[in-house]
Amino acid sequence: IPAWGESHYFTLELTATIPLSLLLNHLYVLLPVLDDNKHYWVDQDEVEKLLKRGEGWLAEHPERDLIIHRYLKRQKSLTRTLMQLLGDDASLASSMDQENEDADPERPLSLHQQRLDAVFQVLKASGARRVLDLGCGEGRLLERLLQDPQFVEIVGLDVSHHALQWARRRLRLEELPPSQRQRIRLLHGSLTYKDDRLKGFDAAAVVEVIEHLDPARLCAFEQALFHHARPKLVALTTPNREYNVRFPGLAPDALRHGSHRFEWTREEFQQWARKAASTWGYRVDFAAIGPEDPEVGAPSQMGVFRL
Ligand code: SAH
Repeated sequence: IPAWGESHYFTLELTATIPLSLLLNHLYVLLPVLDDNKHYWVDQDEVEKLLKRGEGWLAEHPERDLIIHRYLKRQKSLTRTLMQLLGDDASLASSMDQENEDADPERPLSLHQQRLDAVFQVLKASGARRVLDLGCGEGRLLERLLQDPQFVEIVGLDVSHHALQWARRRLRLEELPPSQRQRIRLLHGSLTYKDDRLKGFDAAAVVEVIEHLDPARLCAFEQALFHHARPKLVALTTPNREYNVRFPGLAPDALRHGSHRFEWTREEFQQWARKAASTWGYRVDFAAIGPEDPEVGAPSQMGVFRL
C-alpha cells in the first residue's frame, strides 16, 4: 500500500550448495542479525547458542564482527566473552561502536531509562501501593518497583510468554525470599480483553505498549483498562512521532520499531487521551520524556490519567 511508505519487508535470495544442517545453522544466526530487532533479553545463553550454531563458519566469516555484535544485541561484555571463546580477544573495535550509534535510533539517549524513571516517579509520588505494569516486557520497571517497599503488591502482565520468561529470570523470582516473592506476580494476558485479575489497583503503568496494538482494538483496550480494571491512576507513554526526524538513520516516515502498529504526533496522542479520559471519567495531564526540541518536542510522551 503506497500510502504506508517503504515496507519493512523485502525478499532476499541467497544461493549455495551446502549441507542442509549448515544452511539451517546459518539461517538461525543470520535471520535475527538481518532483522536487527531482537526484542528480548539477551544473556550468556545467547553466547552459547551463537558458538554452537556458528561452529565451522562464523570465525572465518567476512562480516563476523557485525554478526556477533548484532546477535548479542550490542552487549559489550557478552561480545568480549564470545571473542575470547573464539580465541580472538583483540577487541571488536570501532566499527562496532559506530554500529552501536546507528542501529537503534533511540539508543544514544537511553530513552528507555528516562521513560522508566519518569513513570516510576509518577507512581511513587502518587503514594500508590498496589500497582500494575501492563505490557511489562522483560520486567525492567517491575525490577525497580520491587526495590521500593512502598509497593506492596506488584503485578506485571504481558501477552508474550517469552517476555514473561525473561522477566522471571531478570527478577530471579525463584530465588526471592518469601517476603519479597509474595509482593510480585506475573500474569499472562492481553490488554484488549477485560480481566478481573487487574481490578482494584492504585495505579497502572502502560509503557510503550499502546503503539503495539492494532488501531481497531484501541476501543477494547480503553474499556478493559479505564472501565473494567479502573486503576486510580494510569501512567501511559508512547513515542512522539514528530521527533523521529531527529534520529539519524531513521528513514522519513519510518516507525522506530518494526513491531509498532502506529506512532502518534503530540496532537494525535493528546486528542486520543483527552477523549478517553472524558469518556471514562478521568482527568489527564501530559509530560514530555527526554530532551525537548523546540520544533518537534521530546522523543517520548506521557499521559497521566487520574480518577
Ligand atoms: N513496558 C515494557 C515493554 C515495552 S515493549 C518496557 O517499557 O520495557 C511492548 C510490550 O507490550 C511487549 O512486551 C509486548 O509483548 C506487549 N504487548 C503487546 N501487545 C500486548 C497486549 N495486547 N497485551 C499485553 N501486552 C502486550
